[in-house]
Amino acid sequence: MESVPCPACSTFFVPRNKSQGFCSKPACQRIRKALWQKQKLASDPDYKEGQRLSQKKWLQNNPDYWEKYRRRNPKKANRNRVLQKIRNMKQQHPPKPSKTFGIAKMDSRKSSLQSLSGQYWLIPTVAKMDAVKIFIATVPINPS
Ligand SMILES: [Zn+2]
Repeated sequence: MESVPCPACSTFFVPRNKSQGFCSKPACQRIRKALWQKQKLASDPDYKEGQRLSQKKWLQNNPDYWEKYRRRNPKKANRNRVLQKIRNMKQQHPPKPSKTFGIAKMDSRKSSLQSLSGQYWLIPTVAKMDAVKIFIATVPINPS
């Protein structure tokens, strides 16, 4: 069989059969399963309800899980706080649909580049990855 690129890691691999879309690396298989589960939760109400009940039961047996998780993973806890703030802001101020398309803004910024300076969080929305804090600063153009 011909080698194909893995959509998760972009490396080429030889699939075992026609339906294998992702390579066999554990990280890529986790992404494949997460995508499958996301699709399954969206399309199968019985599966969704079963997952909800299962998670509820598990959490009743492990009531201090999230407290310990936040203590063990301060970076992830902080990322989740940032994402929740963004979700809260989106709920309070929903974006105007005429100005946005997909994830990019259609109207490019031509003036006031100075106002872009500051600290931002780059937050992946497709795969589960850590958010990255970045700093954007404007560089003055040297006319010489
Ligand atoms: Zn892969």
